[in-house]
Amino acid sequence: MSKGRVLLVEDNLDNRELVRFLLERYQYEVITAQSGREGLELARKEKPDLILMDLSLPEMDGWTVAGTLKQDAVTADIPLFALTAHTLPGDRKRAFDSGFDGYLSKPINVTTFEAVIHDAIHKRSDMKKE
Ligand code: MN
Repeated sequence: MSKGRVLLVEDNLDNRELVRFLLERYQYEVITAQSGREGLELARKEKPDLILMDLSLPEMDGWTVAGTLKQDAVTADIPLFALTAHTLPGDRKRAFDSGFDGYLSKPINVTTFEAVIHDAIHKRSDMKKE
């Protein structure tokens, strides 16, 4: 049984396939998008349990998609994590200000990956109980 459905928005093929591989290895169901616009459409349509999104994306960048998702009642509660090599303090602040709930640094740390994904999804479950 799937542990949850994750929407992965990443335009880089190698990164996308690595993250997909890790998620599937830990029994998550993966939906992928290759542009910000496609990610936004799939988030609205599929209402995944978690969204992992790159920041530099074609058509619509990750910061813009994040702001749009968080302003829409349909998608605002979906945990949204940035998948990014932009990890300077200013980058983090900009990501949180745009609406991201957290982030995963690239290159992906495979030893902590599963725990980060698990916590990201279960924070949402906790909030839903309130
Ligand atoms: Mn990119």
